[in-house]
Amino acid sequence: MTALIDPDEPFTPAQRDGRPVPYITKWSGERELRVDLGLDLKRERIRYRDEDRGERDAQGRLWVRTVGGYGDGEPEWRKVSSYRQREAMEGPFCQVCTGPPSRTEKGILFLLPGRHKIGQLEGVETIHPPLCLPCARASVRHCTKGLRVHTAVRARKTLRWGVVGREYPPEDKEKVQLVPHRPVRLVNGEEARVPDGMTAPYYLASQLILVLRKVSVVNLDEEFARELETKPHR
Ligand SMILES: [Zn+2]
Repeated sequence: MTALIDPDEPFTPAQRDGRPVPYITKWSGERELRVDLGLDLKRERIRYRDEDRGERDAQGRLWVRTVGGYGDGEPEWRKVSSYRQREAMEGPFCQVCTGPPSRTEKGILFLLPGRHKIGQLEGVETIHPPLCLPCARASVRHCTKGLRVHTAVRARKTLRWGVVGREYPPEDKEKVQLVPHRPVRLVNGEEARVPDGMTAPYYLASQLILVLRKVSVVNLDEEFARELETKPHR
């Protein structure tokens, strides 16, 4: 698994229906690959047969493996690529253009689906990576990912909360002990959120969750107008 962000080759979003396809959007040619998933009997956890270092995070959690990449097939607007979502969250960088996220004295810019009151936002959890100001405005205008009703916020502090993913426990745990050399069937479990610090040996993570702290609600149009005043050439 290699990073798609190459400093020598800037990322340019593909255009579909007159709008940019965000970097984190999943494409129809990208598929989850679960055939390589098996059981590590010694450590009692799931693993990939030929696992590489980037496939487990600092918490020791295994991440979804996919084939294909950005631009393969057609965009599936409402779905995200696990790998690129995690990359944009950890960067952090703009989820659409991969540029630096908009940052002011109020913090980094995020769009949260739905309407929120300020009192509800302190410590809010989100799976949506940050944005730069032009991409945030364009996303709202194009109503991508159901953002017609949204709340634009800035957070002075962001922390990792944990991950969202799915459990893949062995079909029969007893059997695992009895026949350690036979392949073990893993069962598709429930989708669940797991906080950092909690061990989850049969868990396959698919998206990173951040917690936003010191949050302010902002008005994108006002902020954009202000930016135009200070940078009239843009
Ligand atoms: Zn952007």
